[in-house]
Amino acid sequence: MAIFPIRTFGDPVLRSSAAAVQVIDESIERLVQDMLETMYAAPGVGLAAPQIGVLKSVAVFDVGEGPNVLINPKIVETSGEWTFDEGCLSVPERYWPISRPGWARARGLNLDGEDVEYEGDELLGRVLQHELDHLQGILLIERLETRVRKAALRDLRNEGLGLLQ
Ligand code: ZN
Repeated sequence: MAIFPIRTFGDPVLRSSAAAVQVIDESIERLVQDMLETMYAAPGVGLAAPQIGVLKSVAVFDVGEGPNVLINPKIVETSGEWTFDEGCLSVPERYWPISRPGWARARGLNLDGEDVEYEGDELLGRVLQHELDHLQGILLIERLETRVRKAALRDLRNEGLGLLQ
């Protein structure tokens, strides 16, 4: 197992879509272990593979009930709306109020290749939506209202982040 550096805003890997995992083999098991270790070390409640530079559709999360993994996940149902001060390990130490569905259900595979589902509101619902966004190359900044997003991008650039964008 290893702790990987977390890619930050401006790294093009964060803007790229992750590829579906075709075979769940030892390399995927190792990737999941590395992602969990990196997430706990950060510390964070969720991590997507692109955040450590791996464009594979794998996400891990732990909202206080133990480690979970989702391979090739999709959001299959959402409802409601909830505004929450959201942060991201790839845009460290910044939080913005972001409105998303309050409840979400995600479906994917576990490490045994079995279908699994997670659903929840509050933090779990938020983490599922946030991490699955990463797998499509979407950062939380893109979920901000236009005016807030422009100000956020300006601030980040002023601090020398996101120069590649
Ligand atoms: Zn994130």
